Amino acid sequence: MSLHVDKPLPPSLYADTAIPPLALPRLEGTARAAVVVIGGGITGLSSALHLAESGTDVLLLEAQEPGWGASGRNGGQVNPGLKPDPEEVEHGFGALGHRMVRFSYAAPEALFRLVERHQIRCEAQQSGTLRAAVSAKSLAGLRVLAAQYEQRGLNDARYLDATESAEFTGTRRYHGILRDPTGGSVNPLGYARGLAHAAIAAGARLHSHSPATRLQRMADGKWQVTTPKGSVMADRLVIGTNGYTDNLWPGLRRSVVPVWSGITATEPLPDSVRQQVMPGGGVLYELGSITVYYRLDVGNRLLMGGRSKLHHMAGPEGFGLLQRYAEKLWPALKAVRWTHGWNGQLAMTPDHYPHLHEPEPDVLIALGYNGRGVAMATAMGGIVARRIGGESEESLDMPVTGLKPIPFHGLWPLAVQGRLAWGRIADRLGL
Ligand SMILES: Cc1cc2nc3c(=O)[nH]c(=O)nc-3n(C[C@H](O)[C@H](O)[C@H](O)COP(=O)(O)OP(=O)(O)OC[C@H]3O[C@@H](n4cnc5c(N)ncnc54)[C@H](O)[C@@H]3O)c2cc1C
Repeated sequence: MSLHVDKPLPPSLYADTAIPPLALPRLEGTARAAVVVIGGGITGLSSALHLAESGTDVLLLEAQEPGWGASGRNGGQVNPGLKPDPEEVEHGFGALGHRMVRFSYAAPEALFRLVERHQIRCEAQQSGTLRAAVSAKSLAGLRVLAAQYEQRGLNDARYLDATESAEFTGTRRYHGILRDPTGGSVNPLGYARGLAHAAIAAGARLHSHSPATRLQRMADGKWQVTTPKGSVMADRLVIGTNGYTDNLWPGLRRSVVPVWSGITATEPLPDSVRQQVMPGGGVLYELGSITVYYRLDVGNRLLMGGRSKLHHMAGPEGFGLLQRYAEKLWPALKAVRWTHGWNGQLAMTPDHYPHLHEPEPDVLIALGYNGRGVAMATAMGGIVARRIGGESEESLDMPVTGLKPIPFHGLWPLAVQGRLAWGRIADRLGL
């Protein structure tokens, strides 16, 4: 995929409802900055905001516009924790693992306080995250997780049995639910644009339609970052290009799997239907072989997310599977119109952890949130600023790891399709 052409923001519910886009200049001519951030999603914007707040001279280059990538298209779910359970994290990382657990489970709370502090208009609602078990097998996993929450006193989470789950969601689909009250939702495109406003207010310089096309180490040790119409000299680089990573940094594209996910949304639900769908509120994701996630927005539209075709989609027509599934959960939805559908790419990592790399002493790369980037990429921006501000690698709350390209990376579309097919069968059989 070439990023060197202008691509308009894809149509989505958020494009219709978020605060307006920022009018940002392209980078033209030559510039200089202490830190250049590449990528204007949550990772890059949060890094730029935290760096600018700490007094660092920072310039951000975005190939399209802030929030154009996954950050402006996602489910808007602000979810706590890492993909691996707390016990696995602590087992794998020891003392650092304990800090990673605390840090990742505190990430939603930190995000909502950041939204308040900068008065970001993004429909933020701290209404809770519901993790829902769709089978006896996933219920066993959920109970283990509930026990781990309790042992660590994490976030005052509460387990709901099948009857309470039905009362909470309005469907009998779930064997049990774990509710973490610190999660919730944002309009993600509004959130990304709000971060951009906050970063500018703190002193960062942001450029749209300015893809970094070349990185070159100069004789004096500085980096020259080239864009189609300009260049910037920098002491340090931050790369946050996630599922839209190109070949800018050697091997980076092949270190993650760019998975597609899609969302379809209804018109505002009439009151009679609204009362039946998610009466307990919150945002939900299913613990099945294939993740399905959904929530109501502030306009009472249902946003249903999950599997998507492996190419760009626009409009509600291509999302029949998700729509039929939603109508199975709440038959009253059959009377409602589906108005939107869109998709985007996020980055998965083979070890299921977000990756923070430092391939050279003056280069930081953060990516691979495995579907938890709204809260975690925001948090990672803080870590990037701490590291650049001089904190030691050991004192950070996430590990700095080596950059490892995945063998046979070119085969990922086949692997993903195989996994989707297996997931469908496994869920039907309740495996
Ligand atoms: C449909 C969908 C639903 C999701 N739902 C959720 C959810 O509900 N909750 C959750 O926590 N996570 C969710 N995610 C994942 C989440 O959106 C991502 O983890 C997060 O947005 C990653 O942010 P990012 O800034 O790292 O990457 P992105 O937002 O993808 O930003 C990367 C940016 O880099 C730019 N770029 C790339 N190359 C260059 C270059 N050479 N020069 C300049 N700029 C460049 C791109 O244009 C892009 O804007 C979802 C993802 C998708 C696609």
